[in-house]
Amino acid sequence: MFRERGIEIKTPEQIERMRAAGLVVGRTLELLRSSARAGITTGELDAIAEDHIRSSGAVPSFKGYSTPPFPASICASVNDEVVHGIPGERVLQDGDIISIDCGAIVDGWHGDAAITVAIGSVSEEALELMRVTEESLWRGLAAARLGGRLTDISHAVESYVRSQGPYGILEDYVGHGIGSAMHQPPNVPNVGRPGRGPKLVQGMALAVEPMVAAGSQDNVVLEDDWTVATQDGSLAAHFEHTFTLTPRGTWVLTALDGGRARLESLGVPYGGD
Ligand code: MG
Ligand code: MG
Repeated sequence: MFRERGIEIKTPEQIERMRAAGLVVGRTLELLRSSARAGITTGELDAIAEDHIRSSGAVPSFKGYSTPPFPASICASVNDEVVHGIPGERVLQDGDIISIDCGAIVDGWHGDAAITVAIGSVSEEALELMRVTEESLWRGLAAARLGGRLTDISHAVESYVRSQGPYGILEDYVGHGIGSAMHQPPNVPNVGRPGRGPKLVQGMALAVEPMVAAGSQDNVVLEDDWTVATQDGSLAAHFEHTFTLTPRGTWVLTALDGGRARLESLGVPYGGD
């Protein structure tokens, strides 16, 4: 069922299918986190992901997506690459950071999440960028309430990042509605004033995905027509979760624990199960 502005409202049964897809995504990302190390190629990580997604009875949603068709099951974006990196022959080195984005479909329902992982020992600057970006994601998720407004999330993400230093928050790329397709209305920007945009209602599902640069937010698309990199060459991080709101609270569909631990530490009721 589609409501105002093309927003798809899911039934509880449909949300359960999205939880199944979200768990496949979450488990795939944990597998990749433990597989990512110096000496492995991004293409090898992609093969691990595709095998795990398919053997879980799911379908990788990125493969063949859009134009030109995305050729892989994950996005692998290293160092100054922010999002949409194409896996291939690149060998990960000690000191790199890699952002891995993953999507899976179960029975036609989607999950979408991303993590940034340190390879070996990385700089303090890189660790702090990753911490700030991941925490901003959770602050955004924690700001969502039934009856609240979409940009409450945007504002929480932006406020947290800005409170931590002179980081660049990408504005050209945003989070999104998700459900029977990976990308649906509404957009979920990572900056903005609170209290605007669609009302947050039960049955909505959104992907929140801050993309943060250590330098400027200005970015370029590389020759492969996909990879987005920072223009100034500064490091970037990307974290993402798919979530929904239930009458009990917030349910992070791509987190293995449903988000319970992080939400409760932020004083937000867990809405899952
Ligand atoms: Mg994603
Ligand atoms: Mg997404």
